[in-house]
Amino acid sequence: MKEYKCKYCGEVFDKPLRLAQHARSRHKRAKTREKKSVEKEKQGEQINRTIEAIGILKGLQASPNLNEAEKKLLGDVSKIIEELLAYTLKSK
Ligand SMILES: [Zn+2]
Repeated sequence: MKEYKCKYCGEVFDKPLRLAQHARSRHKRAKTREKKSVEKEKQGEQINRTIEAIGILKGLQASPNLNEAEKKLLGDVSKIIEELLAYTLKSK
């Protein structure tokens, strides 16, 4: 006889339909939580990269080879990114 094992808790069922019902009623929340933590991790990486990007822009802005217009442009761009980052951190 074939067995259908639950991949979350290891409980065994004789019919795939029973396993599906079990997983739906018992593990739906666990699945959502798993997905959320992956998303959170991705978001954290994204935030770190954004902070790095702001640092790069600020470094460029301090370069002596730039004219005023270029410096202003870099300043504006880093400000936009900083605002976006602040918004992202607030909505977390
Ligand atoms: Zn289970």
